[in-house]
Amino acid sequence: MSAERTAIQRLAAALALPAFEKGWVWLAGAGPGDPGLVTALGLHAIANADVILYDALVNEALLKLARPGAELVYAGKRAGKNSCKQSDISRTLVSLARKGKRVLRLKGGDPFVFGRGAEEAVTLSRAGVPFRIVPGITAGIGGLAYAGIPLTHRDTNHVVTFLTGHGADGKLPHLDWAAIARGSPTIVLYMARKTAGEIAAKLIAAGRDANEPVAIVSNASFANQNVRVTTLKELGPAAAESAAPAILVIGENVKLRTGLDWLGALAGKKLAPEPYDDEGLRPTAQVLTCT
Ligand code: SAH
Repeated sequence: MSAERTAIQRLAAALALPAFEKGWVWLAGAGPGDPGLVTALGLHAIANADVILYDALVNEALLKLARPGAELVYAGKRAGKNSCKQSDISRTLVSLARKGKRVLRLKGGDPFVFGRGAEEAVTLSRAGVPFRIVPGITAGIGGLAYAGIPLTHRDTNHVVTFLTGHGADGKLPHLDWAAIARGSPTIVLYMARKTAGEIAAKLIAAGRDANEPVAIVSNASFANQNVRVTTLKELGPAAAESAAPAILVIGENVKLRTGLDWLGALAGKKLAPEPYDDEGLRPTAQVLTCT
């Protein structure tokens, strides 16, 4: 056994992680890109699976930790690339489990966030195949953190909305845009590079400020991560030009990046931690009381 796999087995024993039994399917998230963002359970699953069906967004460095002889099956569903039908993937999971394999379905981010993991899990449940869900760090949270953008801050938002720009028919889903515009200061968009212009227009029509800041984070947490900050009115063309995959975030919390871009700081960028003073936002008067 490789030193890495031995180390993972030891870690699993120390944390008393559950055994990956034959005939089970584990539906796990690999995190947004940086292999360091996988969970301990995710690593344990990778090191013990007989078959791994993985998505396009999974960092292949993780697959090197698979058992020698484990079958690695690409089951990506990216626009423009050869893609498997969802029903084929679900059926394959059921039939591999029925053959007594330990089946790992490894998906980018979190398996239950806009990734059709729920559809696969429902198929397993209907078929009576035992399964475990291993959550992962979703791109809309971890990807933003790698861009130095906090999902929430008490001065900017008490609510977050996650939405997909890509409904089951490939078009923008029908949503209550007025409610979203009014109710959610921060909006995180998945799969929205192509529909971002339409989304921005709907939000502006519903009363959002056209100059509100927006960040486009491409390849979040991968070595080629790219962050572009723009405004709502410029979002359509900026998103169309951006590299895939991209996560988009609309809201005042984007301004905090000037002080929190820790990856930029590692590369020598000087951080400006008080964006509020210049931008006219209210800094909270904070008194630290320790009891
Ligand atoms: N289950 C995944 C999301 C799958 S939908 C998760 O929880 O993250 C695919 C969309 O996720 C992409 O179109 C993009 O909007 C976003 N995404 C996933 N990984 C990303 C990354 N590394 N950088 C930017 N966006 C990412």
